[in-house]
Amino acid sequence: MNMKVLFTGALLCAAGLLFAQRTLIHCGLLIDGRADEPASQVTIVVEGNKILRIDKGFTRPGASDKLIDLSRKTVMPGFIDLHVHLEGETNREQALQRFTLNKADISFRSTVYARKTLLAGFTTVRDVGGSGVNISLRNAVNQGLVVGPRIFTSGKTIATTGGHGDPTNGYREDLMGDPGPRDGVINSPEEAREAVRQRYKDGADLIKITATGGVLSLAKDGSGPQFTHEELKAIVETARDYGMHVAAHAHGTEGMKRAVLAGITTIEHGTMMTEEIMDLMKEKGTWYIPTISAGKFVAEKAKESGYYHPLVVPKALAIGPQIQQTFAMAYKKGVKIAFGTDAGVFPHGQNAKEFGYMVEAGMSPMDAIKAATSRAAEVLNMADKIGTIETGKLADIVAADENPLKNINTLERITFVMKEGVVYLP
Ligand SMILES: [Zn+2]
Repeated sequence: MNMKVLFTGALLCAAGLLFAQRTLIHCGLLIDGRADEPASQVTIVVEGNKILRIDKGFTRPGASDKLIDLSRKTVMPGFIDLHVHLEGETNREQALQRFTLNKADISFRSTVYARKTLLAGFTTVRDVGGSGVNISLRNAVNQGLVVGPRIFTSGKTIATTGGHGDPTNGYREDLMGDPGPRDGVINSPEEAREAVRQRYKDGADLIKITATGGVLSLAKDGSGPQFTHEELKAIVETARDYGMHVAAHAHGTEGMKRAVLAGITTIEHGTMMTEEIMDLMKEKGTWYIPTISAGKFVAEKAKESGYYHPLVVPKALAIGPQIQQTFAMAYKKGVKIAFGTDAGVFPHGQNAKEFGYMVEAGMSPMDAIKAATSRAAEVLNMADKIGTIETGKLADIVAADENPLKNINTLERITFVMKEGVVYLP
């Protein structure tokens, strides 16, 4: 390389160090995602995309510093929702839209949902199943082309034939075809391995399986087991080989137990979780992602005539209302819980309602906030980068007007959002 270029580069670097613009955020109250008590009147110093340090009191900005005054607000780490579906959103025509929407339609819509999610204070999400558009969406957000949260995605879900997540459930015979591992349908340990490897090849960050029946699929059963022990074992082992964790949708006990025994990382919904399974989860270190919001929403909508397919209605009425009680029991039992909502099953951007449901069921507001910050970061293996407001972490910072420890519902009206040092709201 030419010396002049090198020299100019060095000069630019030095200038960068001397004049790097810092952003000072004055926080009235700070909940940092780790401490049990909030701190009052602190300053977060942000440089580039990271938190440089945290000062006690309100530090006066230097001449080149930018000041953000949140001295009347409660400041928290950006929230993490571990269960969303950014490719779609509930509506009466959803079953028909499988035949009317092109992938391009789904893509445009997903960008709108991603933006809504970020502006609601969720700076990171785990997308647990779609058509594969979720992988392109993650890339577009990472490249700065689309405004949205940082996304960890499973790509397409893995199911068994006719299981919750088989993409051709409910189709007429000639359209049904014979979906296989690539489409997310497996029927042996060999196919299970192939499906996991295909997801790795597709660019997924994790694996999502549907360990039991589900509510919104066009199938009769909402809770029976849908994988054999051997299939589950093959999925978990193969995922581990590729550095991916496994999220398991589960309502019924047998499928849930099999999934926990096989070593999956998270149980989603967990509706009929027994005390025996809770003990097993504690023993194995399995996380519970409750999605109370989804249960409440589907149970409510099932009462509206024609909103869901007739096959879905009885399942929604039976399963929906149970999740909150299960959550209450699991919390008391000391099962590891991290925040997830199933946004998409209800409108995107309403993710923070889950906080209220968690607190209503007996969780302390501080624990609910930790579930959506430091605890959720642990699930993603990202605890060294996100989930707390500490020196060296990425500057994902949100704020609410009131103190959520006194009024948890204030989190439904987030008034400040910064992701990696960039302000998106206001
Ligand atoms: Zn879901």
